[in-house]
Amino acid sequence: MFYFENINGKRILKSDFIKDVEAFFTTRDLCLCDKENDKNIEILNNREIISKHLKIDKNKFIYPEQTHSANIDIAIETRQDYPDCDALILTKKNLGIFLNFADCTPIILYDKIQNIGAIAHAGWRGTAQKIAPLTAQKLVENFNSKIENIIAIIGPAIGFCCYNVGQEVYEKLSKTVSNFEGLFEIRNGEIFVDLKEINKRQLEEIGIQKIDVCPYCTVHNNDLFYSYRNESGTGKRHSAVLRL
Ligand SMILES: [Zn+2]
Repeated sequence: MFYFENINGKRILKSDFIKDVEAFFTTRDLCLCDKENDKNIEILNNREIISKHLKIDKNKFIYPEQTHSANIDIAIETRQDYPDCDALILTKKNLGIFLNFADCTPIILYDKIQNIGAIAHAGWRGTAQKIAPLTAQKLVENFNSKIENIIAIIGPAIGFCCYNVGQEVYEKLSKTVSNFEGLFEIRNGEIFVDLKEINKRQLEEIGIQKIDVCPYCTVHNNDLFYSYRNESGTGKRHSAVLRL
């Protein structure tokens, strides 16, 4: 179940599926990324607020340059630059990571036994390339996670209510799961897809059972979260944050 908490009076969204580490989604109260001006004072202040909350140095609060790829990288202390990366794995306790979103689906993965995790960015392109299950499989193959120990929380994204796509996108997404039932609907001749639930089913199909899906639609809840579609291509983003 998802619930709101505050950092310095600013709202963040959490899931009770992950309680042992810091894993949450920011709201518009705490914007960490603005594509138009990424070094503005508000952004830098908010990054500092969260770094303090996470008890890490602000230059150890790492984020990649997202490109709608299926590239998965591993956060390391000596590196700040992660170009062309849409999923970041975290294994170090003294680092924090965040990825940025406005309509695309944020997925936080966490394995309590190995105490490792990851954040993936799944818009339709990332979802079509199955970035969430690929990231989970990388935790299994490279870091000794067991699939049954991985928990996933799926954050605010454009909802089934609002996400209409063209035929080509629909076809690509429909091929990513063995059962696409319930994940699309035709309304007034338009195809709507449920991006959060497609990611959930992709994860279920590789054996992940504990998955919490956030009820918020970024278009319907545009007062809380950013929406690229509803705000005609805004540069601002809300974020998914993880610290072990
Ligand atoms: Zn909606």
